[in-house]
Amino acid sequence: MISRIFNVAALAGDGIGPEVMREGIKVLRAVEQKFPVRFNLTEAPVGWAGMDAAGKALPDTTLALCKKSDAILFGSVGLPDRDPTVPKDERPERAALLRLRREFELFANLRPVRLWTELAHTCPLIRERQGAGIDLLVVRELTGGLYFGKPKTTEQLGPHQRRAIDTMVYTTAEIERIAHIAFRAAGGRSKSSGKSKGKVTSIDKANVLENGILWREVVTDIGSKYPDVELEHMLVDNAAMQLMLKPAQFDVLLCENMFGDILSDEAAALAGSLGMLPSASLGVAGGDRVFGLYEPAGGTAPDIAGRDIANPIAQILSAALMLQHSFGLNEAHDAIVSAVGKAIAAGYRTGDIFSPLDRSSRKVGTREMGDAIAAAL
Ligand code: NAD
Repeated sequence: MISRIFNVAALAGDGIGPEVMREGIKVLRAVEQKFPVRFNLTEAPVGWAGMDAAGKALPDTTLALCKKSDAILFGSVGLPDRDPTVPKDERPERAALLRLRREFELFANLRPVRLWTELAHTCPLIRERQGAGIDLLVVRELTGGLYFGKPKTTEQLGPHQRRAIDTMVYTTAEIERIAHIAFRAAGGRSKSSGKSKGKVTSIDKANVLENGILWREVVTDIGSKYPDVELEHMLVDNAAMQLMLKPAQFDVLLCENMFGDILSDEAAALAGSLGMLPSASLGVAGGDRVFGLYEPAGGTAPDIAGRDIANPIAQILSAALMLQHSFGLNEAHDAIVSAVGKAIAAGYRTGDIFSPLDRSSRKVGTREMGDAIAAAL
């Protein structure tokens, strides 16, 4: 059987990055055993590892590798206690991650949040609020809005008075392209879950902001092109409350940059551990391929690094998102998600999702969790 070949830049980064990346790669190798695909995985340094190897958080050779790859599988970067003399703009969070987002115009950030039934105890909400289960996707616009709009400045008005200005700017085109991502994702989710219709809840502040009014109009317009997806609009303050009261009502949440930043972290808390949550940052589609950067929602977790206790599931599910969004390998994506489900059902738990009250579960390390998921595949 002829295999399709995909080139992947694997950038593990700092802290727990290398430990969880190893498990992500292990699972991709297991995918190769099951499906007619091959992954040309090339590892390269980034973050403090890049500083140590080449004096830069994003070494030129690493960037060059990314440019000739089909996707980037990313660990995480940044160690708050490393060398405080390195200026902000040269530190990994900005010099590596923000640089990559800019370089590849990664405008769409996707964060699926799922609470597995067996892990209901990790959710801070009482069971009644968890409803029929939490399984939602936050689609956040990543390169516009308040974080990037100009003017962006602080002015001196007088000896004791300063004024800070941030500007919220969106164009119709920017809203359209992120809306398309959300509606397509909702359509795909309803197909794979067997639901009759997907749903997009578009978040705005149309009662106060000009941006909110434009956002609502443009999203409504794009929504009319997707008759199989239901569209509702919700004000951001109400959405923050509804996530805590009745999270099961949500399917896809479509948000501008800052609202998405805040709501995606709120939604993440529902899944109990950052170690469970993957993310995808997608660029503009070229033909049938979308270039993307795939990484766990959490950071480098310096408090647990190097001890074989980090949860590798976020990294493994990030690899699954890469197969789905950049390579169109939906079956392989579903196979990884189902293998994660099997490992959880079989009782495998890293420390962050372990409860001593659950007698049917067993605490395992990073490697053993990766082994269990690869074996389940
Ligand atoms: P963090 O996400 O690294 O850790 C927060 C808490 O979650 C810690 O208690 C940690 O142990 C836990 N945690 C995170 N991932 C886990 C996993 N896979 N398994 C088990 N527990 C896990 O956030 P932080 O401590 O605020 O940041 C540490 C560093 O990471 C900082 O330098 C920060 O800038 C950086 N960071 C990087 C990224 C990125 O690369 N995308 C994202 C967030 C933070």
